[in-house]
Amino acid sequence: MVIGGGIGGLTASLAAASAGYEVHLIEQNPDFVEIGAGIQLAPNAARVLDRLGLFDAVEAVSVKPQNLFLMHTESGKVLTRLAFGKAFRRRYGYPYVVLHRGDLLGILLDACKQHPGITLETNKKMVEISDLGNSMRVACEDGTEYDCDAVVGVDGLWSRARSYVSSDEPIYHGYVAFRGAIPTSDVPFSVESDDEFIWIGPGKHFVQYPIRRGELYNQVAVFASPGFRPEIAESLEWGTQIELEAAFSKSCETLQVALTMIHRDRRWPMLDRVPLTNWRKSRLTLLGDAAHPMLQYLAQGACQAIEDADCLGRMMREHRGDIVKAFDAYQEESIPRTTRVQLAARWWGRFWHDDGDIVPALRDRILTTRAPDDYSDTDWLYMSGSGSSSSS
Ligand SMILES: Cc1cc2nc3c(=O)[nH]c(=O)nc-3n(C[C@H](O)[C@H](O)[C@H](O)COP(=O)(O)OP(=O)(O)OC[C@H]3O[C@@H](n4cnc5c(N)ncnc54)[C@H](O)[C@@H]3O)c2cc1C
Repeated sequence: MVIGGGIGGLTASLAAASAGYEVHLIEQNPDFVEIGAGIQLAPNAARVLDRLGLFDAVEAVSVKPQNLFLMHTESGKVLTRLAFGKAFRRRYGYPYVVLHRGDLLGILLDACKQHPGITLETNKKMVEISDLGNSMRVACEDGTEYDCDAVVGVDGLWSRARSYVSSDEPIYHGYVAFRGAIPTSDVPFSVESDDEFIWIGPGKHFVQYPIRRGELYNQVAVFASPGFRPEIAESLEWGTQIELEAAFSKSCETLQVALTMIHRDRRWPMLDRVPLTNWRKSRLTLLGDAAHPMLQYLAQGACQAIEDADCLGRMMREHRGDIVKAFDAYQEESIPRTTRVQLAARWWGRFWHDDGDIVPALRDRILTTRAPDDYSDTDWLYMSGSGSSSSS
């Protein structure tokens, strides 16, 4: 049984069903939905989606940026460029793609619906998991109970399944994001290329890229909230629209214009959790954000969930008949890799957001001198997802 029908849960269902297992997935919401914003998929995720036979469909609704420009929020200057063109594709075997989250979820959902080994149910909120020895029982809020051979908890950052494995809580980092996609025709500046832009500066960053074949333009504004205090973390008193305006008030003109188009109806606090050394209890394991929620600064949360799914499917195939062994082999491969990504994402945020004198000066010097086709910093992240050397 898979609990949670997000990107992780649907991909895990496909991977397990492809390995010959019968999968039942439950989702608490009435529908399978993703918010109306973009998502970046790096080659490590593309490789897995291709193995599941889905990458052509993903590519068809994606945009393939030719470059990622890292810009400075205040000066407006280019700090560096990562070339996503031929050399990138030759090196990693796949392009870097950006797409609408709903489009990705739709492709995964259709594939699950078409797979004879997968059944899906919505409006089913898991409230309790019991260990029956040789099987597991999953109880839902509406009183439904399921007995199953094994459980994969893919219920996101606030995972209830994780509480069977660990007592840790999500960690607020005092940053929030405002994000959303708008019709490209409404963008008040010219979108001349498919390139992606990430603007970095003291206590903030801003991400821009086109999605849905260029019909929509995705923007994300992230900043450190001066009003944040751990005691009010779960309230709406911090990370306000007023703080958003103030955070970007000293930015260059291009960014000021872009900010007028940012969606303000909802904000996303930035959270992660401590990396765990174990994801399994009896016949239950975790996957995706339930296992390793991370700050989104490397754009890898969903990519890592997709990699997890691939690893889980391989291990379930390899250790058929012994699910505990399969779950242990899965976490042995996945935990070192996802821990590294979780910690690197935190570090990457500090590197982008530093508001001192020395770190930004050194950072900008390093960034401005690197070559666009120098992939030495991305190899560890993008080479993987192939089922080999994933913890390198
Ligand atoms: C601003 C931002 C930008 C990001 N950008 C990127 C990016 O560009 N690239 C990238 O790879 N990642 C990115 N991420 C991270 C990515 O969105 C997540 O890592 C990914 O969506 C996690 O998928 P998941 O399936 O594990 O969890 P979720 O998407 O959270 O899905 C969990 C599902 O479980 C369901 N559920 C929860 N509890 C229960 C229950 N008790 N019973 C039944 N169902 C339940 C929920 O309703 C939900 O459908 C970003 C994140 C943020 C916040």
